[in-house]
Amino acid sequence: MSARTVIDGLEFSRAEDELQGHLPLAGFGRLQDCLFDADGGIDFLLKGGRDRQRRQVLHLEVTGLLHLQCQRCLGVLAYPLRIMNTLLLVSANETLPAEADEPDAPDCIVTSMDMDVAALIEDEILLSLPLSSRHPDGACAARPGVPRIGGAASPFDGLAALRK
Ligand SMILES: [Zn+2]
Repeated sequence: MSARTVIDGLEFSRAEDELQGHLPLAGFGRLQDCLFDADGGIDFLLKGGRDRQRRQVLHLEVTGLLHLQCQRCLGVLAYPLRIMNTLLLVSANETLPAEADEPDAPDCIVTSMDMDVAALIEDEILLSLPLSSRHPDGACAARPGVPRIGGAASPFDGLAALRK
């Protein structure tokens, strides 16, 4: 697919259109700050349709493997990305449906005649990332020269114990 693919949101939904493809992570400018490196890419599937209340929606699936940076050891953290989301199309001057405040309400997205598919996908990826990405406890790579706070006892602790 080309570098910039746009869809007419309402028409895409009405026609129950489908678009799938692969996008390299290096192409997502705003995502770079969250990444350890931009290796690899994501696969996506975008489908137009309607929800149970016959409202026009887009279904989006995104899968891929991101390399995030661990906030504790600054090492690389492999993060399997799996997004399955339904986005309710609303027009720019439309007031959001009242139920938008409910926790299980669908996410709303402002539709237009030239919705940038890559930007839409990047938004969803950014929203899905953990606020603080870390390896599981104890799984960080040990880095030489960096003392571990609260970690292994220092040899002097043993001496202190002997003196008592
Ligand atoms: Zn770590």
